[in-house]
Amino acid sequence: MSISRSRSEQLYKEALEHIVGGVNSPSRSFKAVGGGAPVFMKRAQGAYFWDEDGNKYIDYLAAYGPIITGHAHPHVTQAIVEAAQDGTLYGTPTEHEIVFARMLKEAIPSLDKVRFVNSGTEAVMTTIRVARAYTGRSKIVKFAGCYHGHSDLVLVAAGSGPSTLGVPDSAGVPGSIAQEVITVPFNDIPALEEALDRWGGDVAAVMVEPIVGNFGMVLPKPGFLEALCRLARGIGALVIYDEVITAFRFHYGSAQTYAGLPLAAVEPGATTSARFAAVEPDLTALGKIIGGGLPIGAYGGRREIMEQVAPLGPAYQAGTMAGNPASIRAGIACLQVLRQEGVYAGLERLAARLADGLAASAARHGVPLTVNRIGGAFSTHFCSHPVTNYDEAQAADGEVFAKFFRLMLDRGICLAPSKYEAWFLTLAHTDDDVSETLEAADQALRSL
Ligand code: PMP
Repeated sequence: MSISRSRSEQLYKEALEHIVGGVNSPSRSFKAVGGGAPVFMKRAQGAYFWDEDGNKYIDYLAAYGPIITGHAHPHVTQAIVEAAQDGTLYGTPTEHEIVFARMLKEAIPSLDKVRFVNSGTEAVMTTIRVARAYTGRSKIVKFAGCYHGHSDLVLVAAGSGPSTLGVPDSAGVPGSIAQEVITVPFNDIPALEEALDRWGGDVAAVMVEPIVGNFGMVLPKPGFLEALCRLARGIGALVIYDEVITAFRFHYGSAQTYAGLPLAAVEPGATTSARFAAVEPDLTALGKIIGGGLPIGAYGGRREIMEQVAPLGPAYQAGTMAGNPASIRAGIACLQVLRQEGVYAGLERLAARLADGLAASAARHGVPLTVNRIGGAFSTHFCSHPVTNYDEAQAADGEVFAKFFRLMLDRGICLAPSKYEAWFLTLAHTDDDVSETLEAADQALRSL
């Protein structure tokens, strides 16, 4: 079974002439699934895409996460139209920025003050600058496989062990910058301890995705975030959470306020707020969902740390587009939708049905598959071992994933073209969509 995508193929040829690699972000290419033309989409509505050849797809890519309401949600669309009619960019402050900052602060109490920027990359990059300004130190500890955008410091991979400095992961990142980064395995407290013992006095911040979304969906093991916060603070370093994927993903709040986190290490009987304080970061980076599908990023945290930022303090960060009126109004509208009763329970129910159905189907056909689901998002690793860190995710079978990806695409199911990316449910997905997806997956898994 194969559907025609001749127009996508033609457009890809043209795109290659003018746009590097034919795509404006490498993850959109099909390089990781055997190459060839990516699908050129023409229109999206609700849970569906239509490509340039008129084929329809159920979308689980959700634009790599932001589209949690579904495409072209009427409330978000109306906000964007109204914003455009009021003029797209002012270069002055606006009241909507205050409204939105308040909404974020109410949902994520560790944010005393925030700043809006234009992407997750910018948000993360700036948290690092602010942490360095506040501590007067230069090194950063991060975790293998966590993606934090494409700024120099976070495009650094592990050295040969947790106590070695990093090596550039991209050409164009100087070795001297990689020397400022220490990479340790996620969920590995002894490795973190060893790195902090060795480099403690030089470490400005420990940065982590508190629930990983970039090598599948991976929960921190019970006690991991508490240990991370305790160890970082023990050496005077800040804790930065990259919640670009996780904020407003699992509930109306972020991972740091998510009751689903396994905080088993906290004393029994501790109140909820005490439990969360044990894993609260000093700085948080946000993006994706909070823009309602328009470009956005934000960062925030403790007052005295945020007051390092210009014009109050010596750490410089600016932006012609920052606090973009349309992005802010789309973000407010998106959070208004997400604040409604039952929204997250609905996402969770559908995701559970889909994830459990996929696991059962794989088992039926003897295909090793590890499904990690958290709320309305899950990942599918073709392997028989659990996935709790990057090494285990890397060990999953990429070739089998590539085949599965194409079989699904030919059956009208759009996944991200990488074995590491998650499936995201949106408010627009229905039980019928899930049934259709499970049927397609059953055929695909059978023919693998
Ligand atoms: N942090 C995380 C956790 C991300 O997943 C991403 C993007 N996938 C980024 C940062 C970078 O965000 P952006 O692509 O908006 O620059």
